[in-house]
Amino acid sequence: MSVLIKGGRVITAADDYVGDVFVDGERISLIGESLDLAADRVIDATGKYLLPGCIDPHTHLDMPFGGTVTCDDVESGQTSAAFGGTTCHVDFVIQPKGATFAEALDDWRSKANGKQVIDMGYHMAVTDLKDGGSLEELAGLPDQGVTSYKLFMAYKGALMVDDETLFKTMEVAADTGALVMVHAENGDAIDVLVKKALAEGHTEPHWHALTRPPETEGEATNRAIQLARVAGCALYVVHVSCKESVEPIALARDKGWNVWGETCTQYFFVDYTFLERPNFEGGKYVYTPPPRAKANQDVLWNAVRTDILSAISTDHCAFLWDGQKTMGRDDFSKIPNGGPGIENRLQMIHEFGVRGGRISLNRMVELLCTNPAKLFGLYPRKGTIAVGSDADMVVFDPAKKVTISARTHHSRCDYNLFEGTEVTGSPEVVLLRGNVLVENGDLVASAGVGQFVKRARFGQELKPERVTAAA
Ligand SMILES: [Zn+2]
Repeated sequence: MSVLIKGGRVITAADDYVGDVFVDGERISLIGESLDLAADRVIDATGKYLLPGCIDPHTHLDMPFGGTVTCDDVESGQTSAAFGGTTCHVDFVIQPKGATFAEALDDWRSKANGKQVIDMGYHMAVTDLKDGGSLEELAGLPDQGVTSYKLFMAYKGALMVDDETLFKTMEVAADTGALVMVHAENGDAIDVLVKKALAEGHTEPHWHALTRPPETEGEATNRAIQLARVAGCALYVVHVSCKESVEPIALARDKGWNVWGETCTQYFFVDYTFLERPNFEGGKYVYTPPPRAKANQDVLWNAVRTDILSAISTDHCAFLWDGQKTMGRDDFSKIPNGGPGIENRLQMIHEFGVRGGRISLNRMVELLCTNPAKLFGLYPRKGTIAVGSDADMVVFDPAKKVTISARTHHSRCDYNLFEGTEVTGSPEVVLLRGNVLVENGDLVASAGVGQFVKRARFGQELKPERVTAAA
């Protein structure tokens, strides 16, 4: 199967030109001006952008949490991702307490088998190094293509680890070349604040934010940075939401330390006041870290523009409002934490980042495609448009007007964080390794087309197989 995409404006992190891209099998084999080649399929991209398939480094599909399970499984979550121009994501395997990492990986693989619509990798969330998972087993994960370890510094009594577990994992990462990811909040202090608020009779959703003040995120971010320095590992801080955690990351990066940060689409658009919406509407916005005071949004735009933060993910962790979020109608601490968003990242960042004049098209590609690929061992096989790279591409119509809504999105979630938002610019055709996934508003490929990708270690390249094969 060959595909010729003609006349698109090819945008990578570095380039911006009009050209033709020829796909032979699963990879890009030729890029040029006015290519005169026969192909099984010709796509006219005149007037459109041709972008690399987006990579979402932070998602939770089919994950048990808070007494329930996220409402999107691998098939519905990845279908939603595909419509939004995301062709690869890295999901979190959560080690159940007392289980080995192999058991956890098997469990997650069985949830994905036969259901994959896009390509995917796994991070390993370490919850327990005393029973079940051992340091030796942890050290073996990068050989299996699982090259990042995630630790929760919050969710006391559930996923949270103590500093001993955090630091020991960091030492293993320093040896194995894995990347350490942290959910940085001070879970002990938050636990005290939550119990006090409930004892005083405060049960509404906005207390979710009032009991997780930004200083608890700033403190944990700085603690993780300093411990990573001692251990000598690379650190990636997930879902940075506020000035208090941007500042220690900026300081570390200014010193040249191996520290990276990500924010998520929703932190640019949803602020604290959304949690105060009446009739439990506020429950829709209970995710962690919580929506912050609006002033933080400018701080985050500035941080992604200046590379203090290097990636934008979705932290897609969807729960139904009706039936799941409502478990916490009378107690904010029982609202499952998480929000949807896997489908709308490209539309929202293009509209308010690029069209809003805050970042360039090249920087958008860097934040959504190239940097996630480089940080998580997928580049240059993914994350760019280049000869030899996987033919994961998005034909993006910059003139198409769309109103974002739960009525039209492809997630199972019964609400959308950006409901009613009008954007100009949306994916039109989405390709995964040369296969057309989405076209004319329909899913064309069937589940099973997606593959597990063995990722390279932090800082190493994942070479396209064809390029490394002997001629
Ligand atoms: Zn998450």
